[in-house]
Amino acid sequence: MQAFASCGVDPAFYANTEIPLDAVLPWDHIDVGVRKAHLLHEREMAYASALSPDCRHQCAACGAAKLLKGGRCDG
Ligand code: SF4
Repeated sequence: MQAFASCGVDPAFYANTEIPLDAVLPWDHIDVGVRKAHLLHEREMAYASALSPDCRHQCAACGAAKLLKGGRCDG
């Protein structure tokens, strides 16, 4: 809570507000490789109770590979 306060972030806002999909979020600057667009696609798939294809058989270009040595998940 001290960190929220020192950064001027109201945690209740994020806990209780429906955030637009195109909103800039406090953690958006953290690069874990996976593109936000891919996560939003997976979100829609989850709401539709649909499975994404197994990316071990067909890469969905999520972006994770860019952080791996050689830029490949299977390498
Ligand atoms: S193979 Fe790697 S880059 Fe491709 S979708 Fe899977 S995790 Fe993402």
